[in-house]
Amino acid sequence: MTWVLALLVLVGSIGVWLYQNPLQDVDTARRLGMRFVGMAVTPAFLGCVGLCLALGAGGAWAESRVRRSRQSFAQRPSLSPLAVVDADVALAVREMLVELQQVLRGYIQRTEPDMIAFVDILLDGAIRVGASDVHMHPLETGTRIAFRVHGVLEEVMMMPREHHPRLINRLKVLAKVVLFRSDRPQDGHFAISTAEGPADIRLSLLPTNHGESVALRIARSTVRLPELGRLGFPQGLLPYYQRLLDSPQGVIFVAGATGAGKTTTLYASLGYIKETRGELTRIATIEDPVEYDVPLFSQTQVNAEQGFTFAQGLRSVLRQDPNVIMVGEIRDAETARTAIQAGLSGHLLLTTVHASSSAGVFNRLIEMGVEPFLLASASVASISQRLVRALCPHCRVPTSPEIDELARLEASGLSTAGPFFAPAGCPRCAGSGYLGRAALYEVLRVSPAIRECITTKVPTSRTQDVGVQEGMVPLLAAGLERVNAGTTTLKEVFRVVG
Ligand SMILES: [Zn+2]
Repeated sequence: MTWVLALLVLVGSIGVWLYQNPLQDVDTARRLGMRFVGMAVTPAFLGCVGLCLALGAGGAWAESRVRRSRQSFAQRPSLSPLAVVDADVALAVREMLVELQQVLRGYIQRTEPDMIAFVDILLDGAIRVGASDVHMHPLETGTRIAFRVHGVLEEVMMMPREHHPRLINRLKVLAKVVLFRSDRPQDGHFAISTAEGPADIRLSLLPTNHGESVALRIARSTVRLPELGRLGFPQGLLPYYQRLLDSPQGVIFVAGATGAGKTTTLYASLGYIKETRGELTRIATIEDPVEYDVPLFSQTQVNAEQGFTFAQGLRSVLRQDPNVIMVGEIRDAETARTAIQAGLSGHLLLTTVHASSSAGVFNRLIEMGVEPFLLASASVASISQRLVRALCPHCRVPTSPEIDELARLEASGLSTAGPFFAPAGCPRCAGSGYLGRAALYEVLRVSPAIRECITTKVPTSRTQDVGVQEGMVPLLAAGLERVNAGTTTLKEVFRVVG
């Protein structure tokens, strides 16, 4: 580049000189020829100078944009990986990712980018955004870098291919794995300290046909718990659920599919318990795996491969005499029975069960081999939850539902009065019409009538009906409330409620 510029300046200077001082001792025709050459070269020279100045200004402008992005990113409050991803949080994630992208691009565009700084910025950014994982996947065209944020994979940037080996080397140095080995998988971990506190990064390297692929798992040592009030419980339902959490003993079940935000609900509930019952309340969790390190609880991780199961973990935890216990999931009869026993002997236990409705939890546990009478005595409540995509509040438009959708509402005895909304698409939601997610809840309190249903092993639909008679708002009705409020669409509700 420097040589080209020097050559241009030289040619330009000759041109200008020829134009100004046509040679005196040659004849007129040649002088005119010289002058003509000079006239042709001079504008070209001036054009080149202008182009260089424009390029310089462009570079400075790009540089200032990177600087602005860096400042803006640094000023944003960091997000918790357990945050409730409503439209505001989703928009903040999107904006932060765009800013981080600018900053990282600014780094990588240099001919010899500083990989140490690049990795530092990348990891700090991942933690600030609330990502749980960072993926670096080498492709033919470059290395795709993506974050998993609140369960969704978001592309951060495409890094030019030539930087891939140096990026891998930097990570290998950090994790102290063998540098020259690239033909077999390697695992390692390293600690970093950020403004959010220390974090442990687990590195997994896998050879692929385009180079080593990287997955980084971020384990933070402190995580802010989501507030119960922000989960999306309808106004009347929140105090109702809080009263259930105030129960001194018993079992509260959370039902829902994987990825329905059950962990967030459980953590927020434990946070509420810690806040209302005071510092002396001992809270213990048994999880597989411990996803978020919360300094308020004592957390135990099961290890099924080495024979340390949920049931064993629960028995060991009970010997430590906690007041409140969270069991990640009930998957087998032994864990179920131990949990019920714990609920009957002075502990409040919160857990999840893979069932399709709050009423369905009981028959699911009875099928597992739990004694119905004990289950009925120990249960406090059963909650079912679903996640729907939330409409972008900046561009949603009123709509009228299709005939079969209205028919379905009528068949369920629900109002068809509306209003109803549909997605449109705007820059804030990247044209999708959706921004973030919203949770639907159904809370079934175990009343004497429900207890009777459990003991007599009635079909799930009967338990559900009794619940509704006693005032339970079923998922579909809860969904319709969110639809009428403009939070989501009728299609989304039907999709998740089934
Ligand atoms: Zn929008």
